[in-house]
Amino acid sequence: MLSIEDLAEKIQSIGFRCVRCGTCCRHVSPDSNLVLVSPDEIKAIISATGLTWDKVAEPYPETIDDHHGARFTIGWCLRRNNDHCRFFHDGACTIYQNRPWICQTYPFMLDEERLVVSPCEGLGHTMSEEDALIIISKLLERQTAEKEEEERVRQVLKRNQISTKRFVVIDSEGIKEIDSLDRNTIPAK
Ligand code: SF4
Repeated sequence: MLSIEDLAEKIQSIGFRCVRCGTCCRHVSPDSNLVLVSPDEIKAIISATGLTWDKVAEPYPETIDDHHGARFTIGWCLRRNNDHCRFFHDGACTIYQNRPWICQTYPFMLDEERLVVSPCEGLGHTMSEEDALIIISKLLERQTAEKEEEERVRQVLKRNQISTKRFVVIDSEGIKEIDSLDRNTIPAK
């Protein structure tokens, strides 16, 4: 099992510095700015911006049809305007302090213990051991949060039958009908 220090060493040897190109916030290839967000992350952005849920997030675009009349998706992603994240303005993130885990850790992610690196103009820049350790600790926190979220979604799916014929989003809080999207908090069914 790789230690935090081993992973930090790997990140430091790859090197990274955000060069503020904004490529990860814009649509430059399929799914390039598809930022998955949990209900907790959406609520943190709502409380920082005063925006409603539907202005912050949109249903994850991949729809599942169970062939018995139910159509649903699992989870949310940040709302996009035309070709970019709706929080990207004048080359900067307007919710920087509340940006989701994916944005905080891009271009890195952990697939169990494997470090996955996405294409990014900032790769290859010299970085300190301290900065590499900060990234790896965020990656580990992100991994824990994502696993907890996945488990909670599994429990929701186990406990509920999707009986509605209306399009719903399933997340860790329950089953949400899209009609309620203009409210700050969407009640779970
Ligand atoms: S939340 Fe901020 S960092 Fe993340 S995609 Fe949107 S603008 Fe970019």
